[in-house]
Amino acid sequence: MMHISKRPVVSCICPSISMHLRLTCCMIVPWAAQSWLEPSCIFAPGNAKHLSFAVKHIASLGSQFAMRGGGHMPITSSHSINSTGVLISSTNLDTLALSADKKTLSIGSGRRWSDAFEFLEGTGRSVVGARSTHVGVPGMLLGGGISFYSYEYGLGSTNGNVQAYEVLCIRWICLRKD
Ligand SMILES: Cc1cc2nc3c(=O)[nH]c(=O)nc-3n(C[C@H](O)[C@H](O)[C@H](O)COP(=O)(O)OP(=O)(O)OC[C@H]3O[C@@H](n4cnc5c(N)ncnc54)[C@H](O)[C@@H]3O)c2cc1C
Repeated sequence: MMHISKRPVVSCICPSISMHLRLTCCMIVPWAAQSWLEPSCIFAPGNAKHLSFAVKHIASLGSQFAMRGGGHMPITSSHSINSTGVLISSTNLDTLALSADKKTLSIGSGRRWSDAFEFLEGTGRSVVGARSTHVGVPGMLLGGGISFYSYEYGLGSTNGNVQAYEVLCIRWICLRKD
């Protein structure tokens, strides 16, 4: 289950500090050098309400934004934006919890697959996560998701491997798609 943290942390990092510091302090450095664009501002919401608020207001101003998970998509502008817009970083959306029956992992869109594998070590459980563990959880699942386990269990996002997504709508409505 992909889940958004309830943690009330929010960061807004503006251009007064260097781009390298801004990107590294959010741990969201893109994998490919061509994606190192310099946004006007980086916004890192701490929960669904912050994210909904930001998207609503950015849209109402007619501004552009880019959404970043793990930053592994090697296409310029897929998760990056230049000074014309705001970069929304998932870094604070860091939920990680195993259900009591150990059948469902709730994971925030700011997590990488390495977080999930390390968290599950010793539980006797695993997830149909990426083969390269530094890949972000949201982008991999949005793209289907090829795993070492795919030969047996299908893609990361098929075969019932994702139980539910938490989906944000611009009008403050949180939908959970089961
Ligand atoms: C070295 C390397 C190894 C890889 N290994 C694998 C592998 O083993 N298996 C596999 O399936 N793929 C693999 N990939 C491909 C990878 O899964 C995709 O590039 C994926 O998009 C990266 O996910 P991310 O979260 O890091 O995405 P990002 O680059 O942050 O984002 C990718 C896209 O998803 C969007 N997005 C991110 N978060 C959200 C969100 N919360 N809501 C809406 N949209 C969002 C972004 O806007 C962007 O368009 C690999 C890529 C690299 C570079």
